Amino acid sequence: MKKPIKALALFSGGLDSALAIKIVQEQGVEVIALNFVSHFFGGKNEKAESMARQLGIQLEYIEFQKRHMDVVKEPVFGRGKNMNPCIDCHSLMFKVAGELMEEYGASFLISGEVLGQRPMSQNFEALGKVKKLSGMNDLVLRPLSAKFLEITKPEIEGWVNREELLDIQGRGRNYQMELMAKYNLVDYPSPGGGCLLTDVDYSNKLRSFENDGILDDEFNHFFHLTKIARVFRFSKGNYVFVGRDDIGNHKIMEHKDKVTHMIRAFDVPGPVIAMVGTFTEEEKKLACEFYSRYSKVKGKEEINVLFDENKTKVEVIDLENIENLMKEYQDIGKKKKNSNKK
Ligand code: SF4
Repeated sequence: MKKPIKALALFSGGLDSALAIKIVQEQGVEVIALNFVSHFFGGKNEKAESMARQLGIQLEYIEFQKRHMDVVKEPVFGRGKNMNPCIDCHSLMFKVAGELMEEYGASFLISGEVLGQRPMSQNFEALGKVKKLSGMNDLVLRPLSAKFLEITKPEIEGWVNREELLDIQGRGRNYQMELMAKYNLVDYPSPGGGCLLTDVDYSNKLRSFENDGILDDEFNHFFHLTKIARVFRFSKGNYVFVGRDDIGNHKIMEHKDKVTHMIRAFDVPGPVIAMVGTFTEEEKKLACEFYSRYSKVKGKEEINVLFDENKTKVEVIDLENIENLMKEYQDIGKKKKNSNKK
């Protein structure tokens, strides 16, 4: 019996990538889904796993943190509005998927990209750049917009029938949703957004790390701590991360081997604080005062904390002064208005 043609799919678990898979599956193609894991997206994902089960496909998590970090640092085609290097990012996913084709016995690659869905990274020119930069060229099939795009090898070879591919373009998602309902595919994450690199606040912090020379894979604990904590920049390369809630506090503890100092509760409940960098005695005292400010007593009583496991006294704090310092230390990495105007 003739072996089925296989394709590897870039698969976030969302609406578009799931539908793209379904469209080629309908033509008898066997699809293996690749969910990419960077410092900023991907990883164990219930929704993606549920959708993979509905589609009846194998789901593989592909860790590419270091390579992805390199494109975040120095994207060939620049970044979007925030720190998102979408063209380079997509192209890297195709490149890595291309390197895996032989291992999985796949003949081509697919994605859920839709022409015009994102004005900067999914217009004609950008889709062309993604293909070219990845080196995968005519092996890249975008089933949802294929009829608008250049013919690809899978179509030329007859592995898929171009007539049965789609002609979706633009930002709307209604048609995709109708098709998902028709195929009885349910429970996908609501469409839109983008990864953490498209988030304004998160990007401001990454920009601050970039200015301080620590936007690098080696310093990835900074990026992970930023997801779960309030971030204060004391001075160049020296940051204090203050847990927001129990889950965040617990997660900060997971990074304890990479941080310089930890502050935890002794006699009054409060946040876990991680200090990363080199700090003066004055700054260590200030971080303890941050603890007091966010603790149950809100800085109004003398308390003790565990500073690197040592019981340390924190006196009643000057709240106004602390609030001002917090504002100053939190206001980091923001793009200056009109900064690109000469
Ligand atoms: S939104 Fe994030 S994951 Fe998506 S292409 Fe852009 S950088 Fe990559």
